[in-house]
Amino acid sequence: MSDCIFCKIIAGQLPSKKIYEDDEILAFLDINPVTPVHFLVIPKKHIKSLMDLSAEDSALVGRLMFKAQELAKQQGCEEKGGRFIINAKSDGGQTVDHLHIHFLGGIALGASLLQTCLHTGKRE
Ligand code: AMP
Ligand code: ZN
Repeated sequence: MSDCIFCKIIAGQLPSKKIYEDDEILAFLDINPVTPVHFLVIPKKHIKSLMDLSAEDSALVGRLMFKAQELAKQQGCEEKGGRFIINAKSDGGQTVDHLHIHFLGGIALGASLLQTCLHTGKRE
């Protein structure tokens, strides 16, 4: 997709701090980190969101999840873990319409993000 910033990162047209790349997957540091460790794992295939998968994408999504946890360990979060987040579409707060898994780590998050959802969302 020509106007997708993550496709531009994949194509090398925009800079990124890559932490992993193979034929199907790219992982890079979030430009606006909200925790000491904050990276994104994306498929090279342009898929708009987790809710725009086709059946043939299921193995790719499995690989994305596996790579995300592997990278979280490599980034020093093996012992204490962190939070894996996938925002989907407008109510999910997705701002970049190219499927991505966030990993947030390096700080104890507790239930803070869930509390944010409770304050701003519809679950209160
Ligand atoms: P989301 O709200 O789930 O769509 O998250 C999009 C994420 O992409 C945000 O955390 C942004 O900080 C991040 N982001 C946007 N542009 C870039 C970029 N050029 N390089 C790295 N991360 C980016
Ligand atoms: Zn894209």
